[in-house]
Amino acid sequence: MTFVDLHLHSRFSDGTYGPEDLAEQARRCELAAIALTDHDSVEGCPETARACAAAGIEFITGTELTSEQDGNELHILGYCIDTQNPRLLTQIARFQAVRQNRIREMVTRLNQLNIPLSAEAVFALANCRAPGRPHVARALVAAGLCASLDEAFERFLKKNRPAWVPKFKMSGAEALDLIHQAGGVAVLAHPGLNRTDEVIPGMVEAGMDGIECFHTKHSTAATERYLELADRFHLLVTGGSDCHGLNKGKPLIGTVKVPYQHLEKLKARAAEIRAAASLR
Ligand code: AMP
Ligand code: ZN
Ligand code: FE
Ligand code: FE
Repeated sequence: MTFVDLHLHSRFSDGTYGPEDLAEQARRCELAAIALTDHDSVEGCPETARACAAAGIEFITGTELTSEQDGNELHILGYCIDTQNPRLLTQIARFQAVRQNRIREMVTRLNQLNIPLSAEAVFALANCRAPGRPHVARALVAAGLCASLDEAFERFLKKNRPAWVPKFKMSGAEALDLIHQAGGVAVLAHPGLNRTDEVIPGMVEAGMDGIECFHTKHSTAATERYLELADRFHLLVTGGSDCHGLNKGKPLIGTVKVPYQHLEKLKARAAEIRAAASLR
């Protein structure tokens, strides 16, 4: 049986691996294919595609968009997207600016708590257009202001903690549309993590193509439940490790076993979406 990992982050968002590292790790894990799903970014895709081609690994373009539906944060994965699509790139740039402004606001709140971190230190460490809370956490640890990433999140950065700042998000329907018009397949990421099952029927109605059933943080029971939901709503099944590189000790890439057949179906759907778009 051959396996794929369809949920990976790189240094173009809050992962630590670069394109070469991802291809090398995928080869080490004997994966047949990987997808890069950086938060609000597609910037790493061309380079990762080249690194994967050199390593004999199939590469699938992707992104993970943060959206909000009925007060719930939903992460929407887009697969097989055209990474040059103008509307996608415009919207991504907009949400990257939101992320950068949010970093400044989080640092201001930390400063008000007498934590002497500078926004420049966070941006220098992040060194990417889509910075997030993990970069603030890493900068706090690097400056000796927190002992660990967990401490940084627990004390300051988790939702409703003193340095947490809400983020302006697109709606779930907008995320689906943005991915579809870029020729991609739209999948709800880790539903078990956000406990957002009640939004699934509405998102299916709005055109969502699949759900991520296999994920590092899904229990066996959760995975079975989402496989059942996928079957009931005629959704594609996807999965991946959500590896962020060496952020949290041992890398997660390849630890979630997703059979290749699911990628086969996903690619078939992407071909249908592109064919429909060319008829419009
Ligand atoms: P952001 O997009 O800036 O809201 O940051 C979200 C990212 O932070 C997630 O994708 C995770 O990688 C990470 N994250 C969220 N909560 C925690 C936590 N409690 N501990 C460590 N990392 C976290
Ligand atoms: Zn992340
Ligand atoms: Fe996510
Ligand atoms: Fe992710």
